[in-house]
Amino acid sequence: MVDETHVNGSCHCGKIEIEAKVKLSEVRACHCTDCQKMSGAPLRAIAVAPADKIKITGVPKEYIKIGDSGNQRIQAFCSECGAQLFATDIFRNLYNLRTGFLEQKNELVPKTHVFTKSSLSWIRDMRLLSRS
Ligand SMILES: [Zn+2]
Ligand SMILES: [Zn+2]
Repeated sequence: MVDETHVNGSCHCGKIEIEAKVKLSEVRACHCTDCQKMSGAPLRAIAVAPADKIKITGVPKEYIKIGDSGNQRIQAFCSECGAQLFATDIFRNLYNLRTGFLEQKNELVPKTHVFTKSSLSWIRDMRLLSRS
């Protein structure tokens, strides 16, 4: 099976477009409290792309988040519509793309779930929910 796949997407207003090559084996969902707060959602799913495999058209707004460890992370989003696009380290080596704005989001199935200690209880039971 081919692990690397091409992805592309744009923010809600269309001001920023991103395409990249990501590894399906590295897609994950993060349930940490920072992801919850910054996304406004219970969890964030991400796909990882190295700097030489991402192309960004337009200039995202950036916010530098300082973690408990003092670690700095760039959080990028559209300054117009607020759509969250990616996080990266201050050296911009590795990009964690938010899968929600990517057209291939349905194929980007998380292989691991991290920080599940802070996952919401209803998420753990989600398979039991009725579909609508
Ligand atoms: Zn936008
Ligand atoms: Zn997180």
